[in-house]
Amino acid sequence: MKVPLHVAKEQEVKAAGFKPTPETEIKEKFLAKLDDVRSSMRSIMVMLETCTKCGNCAQQCHSYLGTNDYNNFPAARAELMRRVYKRYFTTAGKLLGRFYGAEEFDSELISKWMTYFYQCNECRRCAQFCPFGIDTAEVTIAARHIMSELGIMPKFMAGIAVNMEKSGNNMGIPKPAIVDCAEFMEDEMRDETGLDIKIPIDKPNSDVLYVPSSADFFTNVDTMIGAAKMFHHLGVNWTISSKILEAANFGLLFNMNVMREHNQRLKEAAREVGASLVVQGECGHGWRAARMYTEGASGPVPFKIMHVLEYAAENLSKLPLRKLPLRVTLHDPCNYARAGGVIEQPRQIIRACVEEFVEMTPNREENFCCGGGSGILMDEMMEIRMQLGKKKAEQVKALGSLDYFAVPCSICKAQLPHVMKHYGMGSLSMGGVMDLVGKAMVFDK
Ligand code: SF4
Ligand code: SF4
Repeated sequence: MKVPLHVAKEQEVKAAGFKPTPETEIKEKFLAKLDDVRSSMRSIMVMLETCTKCGNCAQQCHSYLGTNDYNNFPAARAELMRRVYKRYFTTAGKLLGRFYGAEEFDSELISKWMTYFYQCNECRRCAQFCPFGIDTAEVTIAARHIMSELGIMPKFMAGIAVNMEKSGNNMGIPKPAIVDCAEFMEDEMRDETGLDIKIPIDKPNSDVLYVPSSADFFTNVDTMIGAAKMFHHLGVNWTISSKILEAANFGLLFNMNVMREHNQRLKEAAREVGASLVVQGECGHGWRAARMYTEGASGPVPFKIMHVLEYAAENLSKLPLRKLPLRVTLHDPCNYARAGGVIEQPRQIIRACVEEFVEMTPNREENFCCGGGSGILMDEMMEIRMQLGKKKAEQVKALGSLDYFAVPCSICKAQLPHVMKHYGMGSLSMGGVMDLVGKAMVFDK
């Protein structure tokens, strides 16, 4: 299969818990899985039936604008599923075939799906501007799910599934390394504040379970430190769980069953530590999976779920903040602004922490994706990722000189430094919103 990403080999597919499908059975299994999706994700059928090809979504998709590839035009991307759906599941398609826009399944189709459904960032911007609200991100989610059920997935996703299963986090970090990193951050905070600020791990009888991104323990430690300082100052009885050191839920990005397993991990971890509140760290799609899918797709949830930026905004007046002398802008992660209701909170927090906050245009629900959304962070996709990040780079460049670029999502934090460097803004400092909270908090020594 010739596609821009590395496809998982048979052994990697098996290691990730999937069964490879023999060539001779692909068509039959593909149609069976498409049929499953028709009944389990019924909104997809409405999206496939409704599009009038008005073209409104074309200029709203950074993937199409950045690559100039027709198959990345949202309606054309959905058409990759629509044509085969029409051929096998509509009477007109069965009778009229191509005259009705229907198309036979062939092996080329899988290559096209692997190429173009992995150039959709599942950002939902097309849905924002479609007169019918057709959400191509949902079509992408369904397509990736169908392919992974056949044992066809990126090597990158298969590797993450193995790590999630083994350690509860994407990076495969074992508990001793988690403890080491927490101690390192505690030492840093002690040196800076003179206070004994803890990052508790697996503490029983905790009121709050905090679920950071695993990257917050290595590359984005200031995000973790910001959250720890906040909980300390507020006197919260909190903990992290070594069983789920991961707000990200890559299942949502390639297989819904893997997503449900991670949601179960979250429920189990909250039960173990006795938490009545789960606070999710800075991760966009992880927030969407936790907020939108934990209860609906994974059974009852006996605790409340909040985002750390909701929590910080709610407690803002209790935090001892000074204004840092910085000019700052905010990237709205797609899964906060268009899928998770975290829009004004980061703005309230940043305004309380810095002297000057400037909005990029467009912003909030209309903001452009970073180009790495939906987890397409594969190295082999770097050239395409830069094309997908072009609109974001233009937005930032238009603001002139900045001191800090607030990017409160782990995937955006992994993607945007490459984008900024590629478009000549490599020296721009960037990080999370909780990083600013941590730096702006003033403690009496
Ligand atoms: S805006 Fe909506 S109806 Fe128009 S082409 Fe795009 S998906 Fe189809
Ligand atoms: S979800 Fe985003 S990347 Fe995907 S088709 Fe729509 S606008 Fe393009």
